[in-house]
Amino acid sequence: MVVFNPFSERYGKYLNIDLNGIEPRIVRLSIARSSEKNNEKYIEMDEEDDIISLFLLFQGLAKTPHAPEVLASLSAYEKLIVTRLVKYFGSEAIEEISELVEVHELPVLANLENPMKRMILVEELGIYFPKEDLFRLRDAKGALIEFALRWDEVYDVIDITTNYIIGPYVFLTKGEFFEAYSRYVRKKCYDYIQRASPKIQEGPHPVHEKIIGMVKSLLKVTKRIEKVSGDLKEDLFPPCVKLSMMGVSSGQRNYAITILLTSFLSYARLMPSTKIFDRESSFNLNQEDIGILLDEVVPTIIEAGDNCDPPFFKEQPIERMNIFYHLGFGMTENPNPQDFGKSKWYLPPSCAKVAENAPLICQPDEFCKMASWGILDREKVGEILKKAKEDGRDTLGERVLELLLEGARSAGSISEGLGIEKKELAELLGTLSKNKLVGRRKVTNPLIYYIRKKRYVNQR
Ligand code: SF4
Repeated sequence: MVVFNPFSERYGKYLNIDLNGIEPRIVRLSIARSSEKNNEKYIEMDEEDDIISLFLLFQGLAKTPHAPEVLASLSAYEKLIVTRLVKYFGSEAIEEISELVEVHELPVLANLENPMKRMILVEELGIYFPKEDLFRLRDAKGALIEFALRWDEVYDVIDITTNYIIGPYVFLTKGEFFEAYSRYVRKKCYDYIQRASPKIQEGPHPVHEKIIGMVKSLLKVTKRIEKVSGDLKEDLFPPCVKLSMMGVSSGQRNYAITILLTSFLSYARLMPSTKIFDRESSFNLNQEDIGILLDEVVPTIIEAGDNCDPPFFKEQPIERMNIFYHLGFGMTENPNPQDFGKSKWYLPPSCAKVAENAPLICQPDEFCKMASWGILDREKVGEILKKAKEDGRDTLGERVLELLLEGARSAGSISEGLGIEKKELAELLGTLSKNKLVGRRKVTNPLIYYIRKKRYVNQR
């Protein structure tokens, strides 16, 4: 049987680990499982190996409990749990999960044809469920409601403001339940690492040192994003963000403030880089950065909420917690810097999502519509330029590539920068584009608007 709940009592017997006699293969397993790329190999494992290697990894991670490796390893484990649930979900899984959270499987809600009543009695929970809501939820979520969890148990791993709640229960589809549970396990693992940290930091065993050292070098294969934080330049914000900061009316407030502004301002302040959209990338936030999120970014979001009509946080105080949740601090009212990592730090939504969910704030200006040219294959272009340098060649095409390597630009800006006629440039770009070296892109995300506009203004 695969492990769904590493905190189950049945596995406690494996946790008397003698670090001096630990088998090298278990240490290697601990290191390898920190990378999501290896998840496939660990879907099915011997339960003893699974538990020992997992907790050994957590103990190694506890030496630097806020390092990016902690978040990366926890994400890998969260995804592994989802994969195991998708493959092996059944009565044994439910039994193990129930030791960690109260979970109810509700087949009575899956049968929409019968009975022909307006309210369905869910005897197990002692509640009536409106049948009309079941149809509405099925249409909105694309799946049936099949599970209920106690919302007060899982409130910091799900968005309780957008989920369906009756009494103490939140109702979820199977996919939502798998996600909520795996996030819950991740949170428990995170808490374990933080709890273990003071003792391990005080006197780490050589095995812990070895694990964290090797995990750091294993996960270094992901591209680290260099920090490029800087003060916010409000005049360069896209129209959707400027409108959100002035305050919006009740229909679009949640999306504008909680989803768009929270993610936009936090990344624009700390990570204004297009690399954040690359799934392979990772980044380091130190205590000072986390302080900036709490002391600078949060007050700006709260101010924007107060500008709404009616004031957002006064009317929906729970949304304050939701802001922290979207910033990565979990569902909390008073976060500490140590809480960072408890939930996901959400990326800014795409323009398509903003236009779909809050159409009134997506009012594209000229810059939103302006197309720019960028490099498609940096490695190949790098090789071409290196070869050209070795051969002493310096054609117009190579100068265009060199300029675009610094960052995407509009045709007008390339033409101005290199003093090339627009017609000649159009032909050149056409050829480079056919060779798949460059491509033309429009703004697809409010953060990309901001990054490009800053670059555009600096070039002038
Ligand atoms: S197109 Fe994108 S950046 Fe421009 S206003 Fe709409 S959402 Fe914002």
